[in-house]
Amino acid sequence: MNASPADQRRLLEVAELDTRIRQADSARRNPPQAARVQQLLARRQELSQELTTRLGARDDLRADLARIESDVAVVDARRTRDAERLNSTSNVKEAQGLESELASLARRKSDLEDAELEIMERLEEAESAVAAQEAVIAETNAEGSTLSGEAKSVVAESTALFEAASRDRTAVAGSIGADLLAYYERVATRSAGAALLRRGTCEGCRMVLAGTDMQAIRLSAEDLVVTCPECGCILVRTEESGL
Ligand SMILES: [Zn+2]
Repeated sequence: MNASPADQRRLLEVAELDTRIRQADSARRNPPQAARVQQLLARRQELSQELTTRLGARDDLRADLARIESDVAVVDARRTRDAERLNSTSNVKEAQGLESELASLARRKSDLEDAELEIMERLEEAESAVAAQEAVIAETNAEGSTLSGEAKSVVAESTALFEAASRDRTAVAGSIGADLLAYYERVATRSAGAALLRRGTCEGCRMVLAGTDMQAIRLSAEDLVVTCPECGCILVRTEESGL
């Protein structure tokens, strides 16, 4: 393959733009925050399940408390009614019955109040557990939305870089002979494509060329396209090459 030294040098620009295009493309497809955002989404799902469990426990206790309160109201109504009847009765037997019932209602009320206190304590704990879980979820959401915002900026910046580099690449590639460009593109699928030969080193793979390889390049015509014996990329010769 033959190509003018100027075209060969322009391949270095194409190779550099291709590197930038690849990096920008990778960053816009998979910004560095993406993995953590995925983790947080999974974590939030687990946290929400636990919150549902805690809310369920709290609601059960609220229902228990409401039931006890309604039982207390029934007992209170009955005590008021019995007390009024006791005040107005002159029947001794009825009075004894009412007194006995009032005593049993008092015990019942005391039992209900003990149970109510216990439920209220448990309800307080259940409410704290719900609040704690909600706080953890809020923290997770805050971290997630910060990272999502950062990721969006990275995607926007990378997309702009990608588009700018792609435009530049089209312009530079358009000024290079089609055969040379096609050769570069073939080589670029398995190497840097084109690299500077700097002081006897291939900048594509960082290998120092053997003396015999350097000698062969030294003897090659300027317009002969030479490649790195190690990585196969096109070696572009300049005054820096050490030839
Ligand atoms: Zn190389």
